[in-house]
Amino acid sequence: MTDLLLRQAKLVPLGAPRDVRAPKADEPQDILIRDGQIAQVGQSLEPTPESFIVDAEGRWAMPGLWDQHVHMTRWSLSLNRLDTSGVSSPQDTLDLVQAAIARGEANTPTGFLTGWGHRSAQWERQPNVAELDAVTGSVPVVLISGDGHHGWLNTAALQRLGIPLRDGIIEEDEWFDVYALLDGLPGATTEAEAGVQLAVDVARRAGVVGIVDLEFSGSWEQWPLRFAAGCGPLRVRTGVYAGRFPEILATGRRAGDVIPGSDGWATQGPLKLISDGSLNTRTAWCCSPYAGAEHLAYPLGRPNFSKEQMLDLVAQAHQAGLHTALHAIGDAAVAAALDVFATTGATGSIEHAQLLQLADLPRWAKLPVTASVQPAHLLDDRSVTEQCWPDRTDRTFMVRGLLDQGIKVALGSDAPVAALDPWLAMSSAVHRGEPGAPPGIQSKP
Ligand SMILES: [Zn+2]
Repeated sequence: MTDLLLRQAKLVPLGAPRDVRAPKADEPQDILIRDGQIAQVGQSLEPTPESFIVDAEGRWAMPGLWDQHVHMTRWSLSLNRLDTSGVSSPQDTLDLVQAAIARGEANTPTGFLTGWGHRSAQWERQPNVAELDAVTGSVPVVLISGDGHHGWLNTAALQRLGIPLRDGIIEEDEWFDVYALLDGLPGATTEAEAGVQLAVDVARRAGVVGIVDLEFSGSWEQWPLRFAAGCGPLRVRTGVYAGRFPEILATGRRAGDVIPGSDGWATQGPLKLISDGSLNTRTAWCCSPYAGAEHLAYPLGRPNFSKEQMLDLVAQAHQAGLHTALHAIGDAAVAAALDVFATTGATGSIEHAQLLQLADLPRWAKLPVTASVQPAHLLDDRSVTEQCWPDRTDRTFMVRGLLDQGIKVALGSDAPVAALDPWLAMSSAVHRGEPGAPPGIQSKP
């Protein structure tokens, strides 16, 4: 096999004990890569006749990046969807939808017009089905919120999907079931898969070599087919939700075991449980009420599972040698998640952890539980955080505070909630803003 000799690359230092290969981090080195592995690092390495030489001219070299939280099918679909992230009212959205239908954007393989990105928590009123029907007529329209936790559907879409008719949006558990209905539409697979290779290419160009795919459908079934069709290369850990968890248990696969048919590129990922809601939908489960929560049915948000259900599922995963990825956004949900990990002895991650009780951090540090956070959310959610959690912004979207406590932190995007862009995630984590922008909400300690 041909060697790759990378000339004059500066190595990003990765913590003291591993620096043996980097005598001086800022001094450019040559890197010899043989059979896909780093064989040698040093000054003026000798090429062999077959060496393929690339001069890095002093650029930085670092290991490939992982995105710890991706919904790949949703992300690839979002690349081709009506972008509703800029709207600020139901009327804005209706104007956008009407214009898209006029441009023929509903001529999709499924015949549906799908939008993605609106954030209605700050709207003066909640949207309704009748006003959407008025601009769409018989074209089925599905508008997915930017946090993925609710959908605003018109009557044509409700009818085509066999969902009971209603006046308002569909949220949380009832909404999560709609993803499967959308996936089952004739033409849906064609629509989704067309975007996957594009999404993979974009991720790879950003330095991403692996993702944890927490897609709602069976990503362990999808990836072998994608690889067979020439998609990749990309390493993937495939997660599973409670609904199809028994199928994974029946395979006997443990965390990290290779997914059959994937040629080693895909491995068994975690059981994913969505233990509470989201900030934007104001369903994340908190210790104290949302600001202005008087009219909400659940002023604290609420858990999606009973404690017994959570303990049972997480214990089953642990006994089967699987990790659990527990979605918990509100501080009450994070506390409950820590209880479940402590009681079961299970390993895994808490996903999101957007609001924390500071008193929970020391006990978290003692558990084998990673904080899997998506720093770019703090940009999208800056104003909604100030509106909904004005009394506790100092405990939101913590990253430094987690590290200082000795909690292992892994970064991700939750694409399509934020773009699958590790550089945006790192910039948000470090500067709490877009590159070059003024800092956002500050968290202490
Ligand atoms: Zn997610």
